[in-house]
Amino acid sequence: MSTIEADLISPLTEAEVQRIREDFPILRTEVNGHPLAYLDSGATSQRPFAVLDAEREFATTMNSAVHRGAHTLAAEATELFEDARASVARFVGADDDEIVWTSNATEAVNLVAYSLSNASLGRGGAAAEPLRLGAGDEIVTTEMEHHANLIPWQELAARTGATLKVIPLDDEGALRLDAAAELITARTRLVAFTHVSNVLGVINPVSDLVGLARKVGALVLLDACQSAPHLPLDVKALDVDFAVLSGHKMLGPTGIGALYGRRSLLEIMPPFLTGGSMITTVTTTAAEYLPPPQRFEAGTQRVSQAVALAAAVDYLTAVGMPRIAAHEAAFGARLVDGLSAIDGVRVLGAGIDLPRVGLASFDVEGIHSHDVGQYLDDLGIAVRVGHHCAQPLHRRLGITSSTRASTYLYTTDAEVDAVIAGVAGAIDFFRRGA
Ligand code: PLP
Repeated sequence: MSTIEADLISPLTEAEVQRIREDFPILRTEVNGHPLAYLDSGATSQRPFAVLDAEREFATTMNSAVHRGAHTLAAEATELFEDARASVARFVGADDDEIVWTSNATEAVNLVAYSLSNASLGRGGAAAEPLRLGAGDEIVTTEMEHHANLIPWQELAARTGATLKVIPLDDEGALRLDAAAELITARTRLVAFTHVSNVLGVINPVSDLVGLARKVGALVLLDACQSAPHLPLDVKALDVDFAVLSGHKMLGPTGIGALYGRRSLLEIMPPFLTGGSMITTVTTTAAEYLPPPQRFEAGTQRVSQAVALAAAVDYLTAVGMPRIAAHEAAFGARLVDGLSAIDGVRVLGAGIDLPRVGLASFDVEGIHSHDVGQYLDDLGIAVRVGHHCAQPLHRRLGITSSTRASTYLYTTDAEVDAVIAGVAGAIDFFRRGA
């Protein structure tokens, strides 16, 4: 969706948001005597009845292991499990067999990293040859990554002898595309970066980075953890080779995530985990593996979680991802403007000229993020504090932690205003006490 198209799409109305909130039982909770204002969806989102019911319905009517049994329940469960894969595939613009279930995005990144190092050890035979990495090869990531999209590449480099290079940030926290153009060279084999920063809330210029990678024939892995829940996502249109997401950030349950992999790559990638359910023939000395996606799904699968994640993406689709994106873009601006206007508050990346989701992290001069978070919790407002698994980004911006407010489709204007007023109140409170 271009910025112009996004501008033409109307955000959710207040009445629609109120209607949506009725679907989320947890939003009726009181915390410390106040109605819960949940502004921590960037960490994990809440679940509507449709998702809770799907998991319960599966458990109460057809619970059984998939792809194994000959009985009716197993057949029904297998059908539902594969339908769920198709729903998630449709949601991100992939073909069904290009979606691999994982337990979360972290496992999905590790799946790719371990598969590449297995290929580098000669696993996967001649077919996997194009995936081999070694001394002289380079992996490129960025200084703004969540640790889940950084440490697996550090480890992959250590296992294969490849070198890890990191695209630096400017003083505001934006990716330095000038530096990216120099760092991505003929030696680059993989470029891994986040679509939306989980600290800055900015939507990175995917096509610029993909363009640089394509020019040198490098693979691209997109961390879509903070984009898939909040923006229309089309992995084919973005032309990435891999994309990873976590179900619990997009109205689904914990314990389920997905890897999108371009079919031609999944077909030549050796497995990461091995064991039951991913083989055709096994002898005491060797095994032959199923084609993807089953090749990457060893062991008994997370069926109820997959079914519930499908209910989540159906729910999001019914509301409309373009409208959710418009709703949250408005909150992103409201948070950045409202918090920046408070004396002593520095919103990280406020000056970055990129579109945003409804997420802002900030540092309050002289007050630790944990104290800000505690003060807000006393008001029933849930935010995230700490480094948000992005220590290098915080270090680059000269701080060790920040407070993060993040919205979703069920967030109201009043909640966003409450967090802004709450931060102003925290400053008054701690300064008076100082
Ligand atoms: N990438 C980003 C941008 C994230 O925000 C997160 C979670 O916070 C992850 C990766 C890791 O997700 P998970 O812990 O669900 O694997």
